[in-house]
Amino acid sequence: MRKRIAAGNWKMNKTIPEAVALCNDIINLLRDNPPLKEEHHVVVAPPFTALTKVAELIEPYSYMSLAAQNCYSKPKGAFTGEVSAEMLISAGCTYVILGHSERRDYFIENDDFLYEKVCMALENKLTPIFCCGELLSHRSADAHYTVVLSQLKNTLFRLNETDFSKVVIAYEPVWAIGTGVTATPEQAQDMHCFIRKSIGSAYNNEIGSNTSILYGGSCNAKNAAELFSKPDVDGGLIGGASLIASDFVSIIHSL
Ligand code: PEP
Repeated sequence: MRKRIAAGNWKMNKTIPEAVALCNDIINLLRDNPPLKEEHHVVVAPPFTALTKVAELIEPYSYMSLAAQNCYSKPKGAFTGEVSAEMLISAGCTYVILGHSERRDYFIENDDFLYEKVCMALENKLTPIFCCGELLSHRSADAHYTVVLSQLKNTLFRLNETDFSKVVIAYEPVWAIGTGVTATPEQAQDMHCFIRKSIGSAYNNEIGSNTSILYGGSCNAKNAAELFSKPDVDGGLIGGASLIASDFVSIIHSL
């Protein structure tokens, strides 16, 4: 059975004390009202500096996991400022977000580089939450399916079946990220269904139906339930709304 996941990407927000406070608020709200089903999972992705503190806080809660927001493609060495997959494991992470549009755009991360990062994450037993998604100009030109398929073919679909089966995908239309403009539930469902069918063609339908595909892009406490009610939407990768504990918990309860 595929997992349903609410993952909070805190981006470059929260000092260590602020991250501890946010995580404690989430834990306190969830303690009396935990996620309902075994397949429901909560992932939090604080900045690197707060990972170990947040790891300690969530440790007692089996439905909570820690993600990093990035990792480097090489195992170790003279790469000033970078963080390895092995370091993230030692900090308590089990997930890593890769391919986020902000990394692709501001840090010029291309498909080949992202493929190397995915391989490094998997080698170290970190689950990649791999982001894909089109620009508004692609959608306006009716090229959104082609763009997303090419992102997947150039990265995840180069993995063998066993490795691909460990990956979580996040469909994040770039025009919806941080803009307040959300994909309609129908637009999300159409793309998620397309991605799942593409996985079926690249591997097989069983792998397609077991892959968790999250939606990301201005998902919030008000629209999460409708988005998550779609059959191919298995939860969300949440930016802004994950910084407000009550909103994030409400999104978790929409899974
Ligand atoms: C994101 O950055 O992954 C994201 C989905 O952001 P937001 O929810 O703020 O649009």
